[in-house]
Amino acid sequence: MGHGLSCSRNPTELEFFMAVRAGHLAKVESSLRIYPDILYQTTIYGRLSALHIAAANGRLEVLSLLLSRSVHPDLLNRHRQTPLMLAAMHGKIACVQKLLEAGANILMFDSLLGRTCLHYAAYFGHSDCLQTIISAAHYSPVAGSWGFARFVNVRDGNGMTPLHLAARQRRPNCVHILLDNGALVGAPTGGYRWAGSTPLHLAARGGCLGCVRELLTWGADRLQRDSSGRIPYVIALKCKHGECAALLNPSSAEPLVWPKPLKFISDLSPDTKVLLETALMEANLLREKKILKGTMFSLPSPPHSEVKVDDDTGSEASDTELCCICFEQACTIEVQDCGHQMCAHCTLALCCYKKPNTATLLSSAPVCPFCRSEIARLEVAKTKTAEELDKDTSSKLRRPRRSRNFCEGSSSFKCLSPPVSSFGKLIGHKPADNSDLLDKS
Ligand SMILES: [Zn+2]
Ligand SMILES: [Zn+2]
Repeated sequence: MGHGLSCSRNPTELEFFMAVRAGHLAKVESSLRIYPDILYQTTIYGRLSALHIAAANGRLEVLSLLLSRSVHPDLLNRHRQTPLMLAAMHGKIACVQKLLEAGANILMFDSLLGRTCLHYAAYFGHSDCLQTIISAAHYSPVAGSWGFARFVNVRDGNGMTPLHLAARQRRPNCVHILLDNGALVGAPTGGYRWAGSTPLHLAARGGCLGCVRELLTWGADRLQRDSSGRIPYVIALKCKHGECAALLNPSSAEPLVWPKPLKFISDLSPDTKVLLETALMEANLLREKKILKGTMFSLPSPPHSEVKVDDDTGSEASDTELCCICFEQACTIEVQDCGHQMCAHCTLALCCYKKPNTATLLSSAPVCPFCRSEIARLEVAKTKTAEELDKDTSSKLRRPRRSRNFCEGSSSFKCLSPPVSSFGKLIGHKPADNSDLLDKS
């Protein structure tokens, strides 16, 4: 990326810059002692400062030393790029964090393509850097002046948001983080004279199934046309991305869409969110399998398979604490305020039954299928902690007693309370664990 050190003005500077690049702290310190002004020198061609070189090469100690000498964190190189942009480009997460702590500005645009550090993190697929910058945006002055949502959807000189770049460059993790933080799923790149492409068009061009899946799950429109009048399906076909084309084909089944507009969905706890997101991904993977079956394409092993556990545990658990709606999955979600429980798949089916529509949001807010009361909140169904189970072992009648208590606690929905024997099986798992979300089909 043109961060070479050749053409430094003299051997002393070259030596200094090389020490910075190699992370030789002692050498950097001694150079600074002898030539304090060297701190403000730059390489001749790229006009890289020592701070740029340290950031691009992930030299945290050197970077910290330079920052402690009151070097401004937002120095600019020849292309008006900041050290933060270079750290984000190269995925140097520790340096990204350090620069943000030092007050680096996240809303600087370079002169190459008018990109910010967020564009670069998304383009190069460094999801940890992307997440860190987004988190910082909540607290930085940018949130006050620009607004957080506007920052996440910031455009480069070609009208590209970070989401467009992540979709085009086949970065599904970055696509997910951006969508989760308010990136507009259907934003066109559009200049003032043309409609431009949506992230889904660019994902179709890139041919990344994971990106297409994420975008569809967040409600991307398969029928939106680009400036040439093409829908994403046509682009995927043209680029010979058969699997993507199969999912983008408007005549194939619609995916379940994350019910983002529902108020209780935006207020989910992280644990509950993981359960529901996993269930959504599983449901859509199943749909993909059906779509791709019969085509010449087979589905590679799903990216979320690592959250699953072996079949034995799953089938045991599902024997004992089944969801009373589907009788297939374990109860993992509890509806508030009524306390009724069901599995994550059924919860989602309930919320996604009607396509989320902000206009009709109030009238279509889902209700608890057991008592018809409006859903105020969703929480992870309470399972016992290890300590509670330890306490209980003091009683030899633990299992039967807990069982009775549970039935008494939920008068009209006894079947909704998991029988107690299941607790023993769940003991090894944290509540956020998805082990009981096994897809049995
Ligand atoms: Zn269910
Ligand atoms: Zn209820």
